[in-house]
This record gives sequence, C-alpha cells and structure tokens, in this order.
Amino acid sequence: MFETFQEYSLALELLRRRARISIIHRETGISKEVLRTAYKKLYGCSPSSGALKYSTRGLTRTNRSYKETTLFAFCYHKVDKLSQASSIQKIIQAFDIYSQTDSSRQLNFSAAWVIAKDIASKSVELSLCKNCGSPVLLNARESNIDKCGICKAKVTA
Ligand SMILES: [Zn+2]
Repeated sequence: MFETFQEYSLALELLRRRARISIIHRETGISKEVLRTAYKKLYGCSPSSGALKYSTRGLTRTNRSYKETTLFAFCYHKVDKLSQASSIQKIIQAFDIYSQTDSSRQLNFSAAWVIAKDIASKSVELSLCKNCGSPVLLNARESNIDKCGICKAKVTA
C-alpha cells in the first residue's frame, strides 16, 4: 500500500499518454480507484472501461493497422537494443518515437504496450523482408500468412 514516488511519477507519465487504467495498475500497483480519480482530474471525463485486447493479433485486422503495429514494433526493437531502462520506460520511449514519426499515427499507448509485451515474450517477432528490407512482424496476423506490408513478398523467420 506504500507506493513510492517513482510509482506515482510513472503513473502520471502513463496517464499523460492515456494508458488504460488496468495497465497503469499492473505497472505501478496503485489502486484502480485512485487512478480513475486522477484520470478524471486530468481529463474531466471517466477513462474508457471496455476490455483491453491482450494480443497483438487483435490489433492487426486491416493492412493499415498491421503496418502501424509493425512500425511500433520496429521503434520498440530499436529502443530495446539501445536502452538500459526498465521495460515500461522502454515502452514509453518507443511509443513517443512512434507517435512523433507522423501526426496521424493510429495506435494508442495501450495497444503499444500489448505489442511490446508480445515481442518480449517472443509470441511475435520482428524480421526484415528479404526482398525489400522493410520490417515485417511475424506471427502477428490471424491469417498466419506473413507478407511484407510494402512489397507483398512472403516472409519467413
Ligand atoms: Zn518487402
């Protein structure tokens, strides 16, 4: 029950990026009630309460969303290689880089968190297209067919 300053500071960083309350609770241990109150104070409305899709495959139904997912995975992969930060700080850094690549970025923080967890557990894997060199996220689509999002070549690990 005695959360540290670091946990509150992390909770605030996650609230600013509009992470799901369930994710902030998992990462900080701070009670969902306290987090919901803080969210209301920050945004003047209640946080969304629908169930979170806890799988990358649930996020890649369209080609557009698959490309977005792959782009975030690429950012996360780079940060993960270069940074000594904690796992959640790496997700925050990668999400900020991803968000800054274009103003029309589609994935929210909670989706990014799910993708990063799937990369960490190796249930999805980032590879490169042997034809054009673009990043491809393997095992990330329900169709089970891994195609390069750019040149459409079939890609295997
Ligand atoms: Zn390609």
